[in-house]
Amino acid sequence: NTTTTSLNARTTALDRAHVFHSWSAQAAVKPLVIAGGLGCRVWDHDGRTYLDFSSQLVNVNIGHQHPKVVKAITDQAALLTTISPATANLARGEAARRIVARAPEGFNRVFFTNGGADAIENAIRLARLHTGRDKILSTYRSYHGNTGAAIVATGDWRRVPNEYARGHVHFFGPFLYRSEFWATTPEQECERALQHLEHVIVGEGSASIAAVLLETIPGTAGVMLPPPGYLPGVRELCDRYGIMLILDEVMCGFGRTGRWFAFEGYGVVPDLITFAKGVNSGYVPTGGVLISDPIAADFDETVFPGGLTYSGHPLAMASIVGALDAMSAEGIVQNAARIGRDVLGPALAALQAKHAIIGEVRGEGVFWALDLVADPVTRQPVGAAVMARIKAELLGRGLLPFLIDNRIHVVPPCVVTNEEVAEGIAIIDEVLALDLLA
Ligand code: PLP
Repeated sequence: NTTTTSLNARTTALDRAHVFHSWSAQAAVKPLVIAGGLGCRVWDHDGRTYLDFSSQLVNVNIGHQHPKVVKAITDQAALLTTISPATANLARGEAARRIVARAPEGFNRVFFTNGGADAIENAIRLARLHTGRDKILSTYRSYHGNTGAAIVATGDWRRVPNEYARGHVHFFGPFLYRSEFWATTPEQECERALQHLEHVIVGEGSASIAAVLLETIPGTAGVMLPPPGYLPGVRELCDRYGIMLILDEVMCGFGRTGRWFAFEGYGVVPDLITFAKGVNSGYVPTGGVLISDPIAADFDETVFPGGLTYSGHPLAMASIVGALDAMSAEGIVQNAARIGRDVLGPALAALQAKHAIIGEVRGEGVFWALDLVADPVTRQPVGAAVMARIKAELLGRGLLPFLIDNRIHVVPPCVVTNEEVAEGIAIIDEVLALDLLA
């Protein structure tokens, strides 16, 4: 059909002529054309469909085009598309109430942002103002966003060309499979990672440190579940030295792990929580900071020195209300937990038993990574050429993957069904059976 074929071609031509892409050398960009989606599937203008095992950038937790979220947005658009953050707006209040209702006790206020990175900026600002201290400790092997402080807090290559913010210190978090601490058990990794953090705190001068900033489960860096005891140990160090604990739940929050917040599974409560992505599945850009009562109280009489034109934008707020209500009514978080425990986790373990290229399988809920290695003994990561081949082979079979470094992140929407998992796993199985290391 020439009409639809030309829409694909036109989309590509316009993109290549005028759109400047993130994190890319522009000449090398070859974007997939996506025209529509529903649930766990997306398609181009030719009707070629893909099973979405990426949730885009791990944000479409509720699946594509959930009718209740689309309706919440269109109803709000018909009523009032935009209004200043200085006004009181019903959708904004209802969104904040629903987020607070899912948070631990002692969190009653939400500052809304445009996305995850500016949630991090504002959490850092709040911690600095609350403590009167400056330094922010975060880990190598992390991603916190692409704005002033958030990108410098980030622990991957993207920080290095962007180091314009001050007061950032990095340390190593636990990661047993590629241990920085010569550990061979989770207990050793946990103990040594905590000792390392305490040494960094003391070495930097504990009275100069405003916050420790951690992804509860580092996502982009490889879905590295913290060993039991690590996060409570960090909490204890923070308490001992008067340091705020910021947990970044932008990727792991709102259902991804099979819980509303990932930290619920790790026996820890932070002082500040950042969120974005899953809160409304990214249908309209938004994010925010959940602020614990003692920090919020600082600004009862003192001006909070921060704001955004679109903080609490009505379309975003309506989408949060629609998404959270649908997630609760339809048991979507429970589905993520069930899929991880009973379907996806066992299926990935079976893949690992079959394919030597899978060095480790890590994850929970619908938040998994396959760590691919050229040699299971040395754990040497597979190279970029192997990953490029895997990407092409998966896409060619209709699976939209999320690949980073030497890993396949298996991160479908929280609504994924048993049948869709089986379909996706069969494709990964077929691709990993190819002679990839030749
Ligand atoms: N924090 C984490 C843990 C993330 O994964 C991301 C994005 O991937 C961000 C922050 C930044 O969010 P955004 O891209 O919405 O600014």
